[in-house]
Amino acid sequence: MQYSEIMVRYGELSTKGKNRKDFIRQLGRNVRRSLHEFQGLNIRAQYDRLHVALNGYDTDQVIKRLKGVFGIENFSPVIKLEKNFDAVKDTALEMIQAQFQPGMTFKINTRRQDHHYEYDTNQINDKLGGHILRHIPGIKVKMKHPDITLRVEVRLNGIFLSSETIQGAGGLPVGTGGKATMMLSGGIDSPVAAYLGMKRGVQLDMVHFYSPPYTSEQALAKAKDLTAKLAGYAGSIQFIQVPFTHAQETIKEKIPEGYLMTIQRRMMLRIAAAISLARGDKGVFTGESLGQVASQTLESMMAINDVTTLPVLRPLVSMDKTEIIKIAEQIDTYDLSILPFEDCCTIFTPPAPKTRPDLEKTRNFEKLIDVEGLMKEALDGIVVSEIKPGDNFMNQQQEVFAELL
Ligand code: ATP
Ligand code: MG
Repeated sequence: MQYSEIMVRYGELSTKGKNRKDFIRQLGRNVRRSLHEFQGLNIRAQYDRLHVALNGYDTDQVIKRLKGVFGIENFSPVIKLEKNFDAVKDTALEMIQAQFQPGMTFKINTRRQDHHYEYDTNQINDKLGGHILRHIPGIKVKMKHPDITLRVEVRLNGIFLSSETIQGAGGLPVGTGGKATMMLSGGIDSPVAAYLGMKRGVQLDMVHFYSPPYTSEQALAKAKDLTAKLAGYAGSIQFIQVPFTHAQETIKEKIPEGYLMTIQRRMMLRIAAAISLARGDKGVFTGESLGQVASQTLESMMAINDVTTLPVLRPLVSMDKTEIIKIAEQIDTYDLSILPFEDCCTIFTPPAPKTRPDLEKTRNFEKLIDVEGLMKEALDGIVVSEIKPGDNFMNQQQEVFAELL
């Protein structure tokens, strides 16, 4: 079916009162960005709905993109017709035929803005309903929860038909919730936490710690590929890689084994917080979930959180691993996350880290290292790049690898 436009219904925007204008403007921007390759699409973000005029583009391709834009409750492909009732009848029948399977029920739901149109709402419902009953054997009308609802809107500039409502991603448009820093590893959890942060409208800068030669180029490329996946929800994302080798080596050398992990995490959070402040970000997101591993007990969080007054946001805090994995699969990060390229934490994690570190002891042990110096060194070495949806880093690596062989 060749549709003429897609009509997008806003999500929580409608409840946001005076901020509504900003939300709609941002959503318009985000939709435009996610559809940027489709030149000639006409996107209009209006007060109650957003319209994407397709100008001949493939509806399915556009639908696929729209499904990834936060702030959209649902949307419907629409056919616009002139006010010629025979054409409306034919198209209505065609639309329902395309969806009909034996046993299905339907109803017609008409709204009329143009009060001078020759038929009123009831007449339109009756005429179209009758036409469909006559032409599709076995179909029945059902007013409550029918399988197919054909929506008819009679507006001043034409008659609009739609019969499908496609679920959107929900949430708030990315950018309406300010900007924060995401600590992104190559694991399963942090990409899911990033997704959930962005879903609440927050734009995220990704910070990734890497420790060559202990971690491979592939591990770095994997974190970038995860960012490219997440960029599908955000347009493009700043990726900040932080060299962490010297800090980790020093910590390993100087700190008693039980506190290695805690102090390493404090160092990471300190650096992430410094980057956050320097970029004007308003908080640090992590993929931590309570009780999952030694560093994720309340005592550990307290000992680690001690280094910053910025809000540390943990969208996964009370989720089970199975719930997290389910989302990772839905957002298509799972397969990347389980690739076996270890990140810097896995390699430097001692066999038995303290699950209940003592805050005072932690602070004292930390005096054994030059915190300021190591921080400065890491911050001096950061590399920032911009990652777009569809970018691919691991394949590039494989090609380089293949050339070496
Ligand atoms: P994940 O699956 O996100 O790696 P995890 O269950 O492996 O999490 P940890 O290794 O304890 O848990 O990491 C906890 C959090 O610390 C991560 O979710 C992430 O936010 C942050 N983190 C860990 N390693 C890195 C890294 N190399 N770079 C940036 N952030 C990291
Ligand atoms: Mg991890």
